[in-house]
Amino acid sequence: MPELPEVETIKLGLQKYLVGKKIIDIEVQDSKLFQDQKVHLKGANITAVRRFGKGLVIDLDNEYSIAVHIKLTGQFVYQGNETKKSSPSVKLVGDLPSKFTRLIFKLEKNAQLFFNDVRRFAWVKVVRTSDVHKLPFFKELGPEPFKDLTLVYFQKILKKTNSSVKTVLMDQKKIGGVGNIYANDALNLSKIDPRRKASSLKDSEVKKLFDAIHDVLKKGLKYGGATEMNYVNVEGNEGQYQKHFLVYGREGEKCYNCSGTIKKIRIAGRGTYFCPNCQK
Ligand SMILES: [Zn+2]
Repeated sequence: MPELPEVETIKLGLQKYLVGKKIIDIEVQDSKLFQDQKVHLKGANITAVRRFGKGLVIDLDNEYSIAVHIKLTGQFVYQGNETKKSSPSVKLVGDLPSKFTRLIFKLEKNAQLFFNDVRRFAWVKVVRTSDVHKLPFFKELGPEPFKDLTLVYFQKILKKTNSSVKTVLMDQKKIGGVGNIYANDALNLSKIDPRRKASSLKDSEVKKLFDAIHDVLKKGLKYGGATEMNYVNVEGNEGQYQKHFLVYGREGEKCYNCSGTIKKIRIAGRGTYFCPNCQK
């Protein structure tokens, strides 16, 4: 599932192309995703795009906002004069609209924003801007890196949790934005065994892990996110972080810390990659 760096990359793209544009109409291809709120969108101007954890909020000038969670396979792809020269990934996007296009936002100047979703787990909700924080996803979201996640809070949350440290990192109610890829890589970078109980980490390890989370997320952002399944940026192109994974997806390959061999196990049902040689 796209995580903080991927969703932030989408946010930056949406900010670049959407802010200041008017929504002329919206074409609904999938009524499961979007029902009757067209009336709040038509004719509204887009004023801002915000991200909270893995969630996105598109603000309009009529006191309404569009809240979105792209879940596993959601894509926003923009096509307009500004992107005439860019060509979306043939493999992951193809010609638009495609059979996976769920919504088409028709914007002024003949621009269009396509929302595609292969697996149909994504949600899109139109709510009053003042009520965005009342949606359960946003209400329950924990503090997030680069925003309100402090070392003191991080220490506190790990100390009082007996589940594995990796599970805690991925729990959106405890920490917003970190998912499987960056949790695996942060634990490798800080040389901590993902199976360890969160409460067993020493203060020095907590600090190392805190820094490692920020380091791997920064790297993810630098490379425009990781394309693992269907993730693309707003131009429809893949991210590049998958070429720089530390351990994620690298079973049987060599660890960059110590040349040990990366193993794959399962923790709470999720594929977990680590180096048993240096991650203690
Ligand atoms: Zn190693």
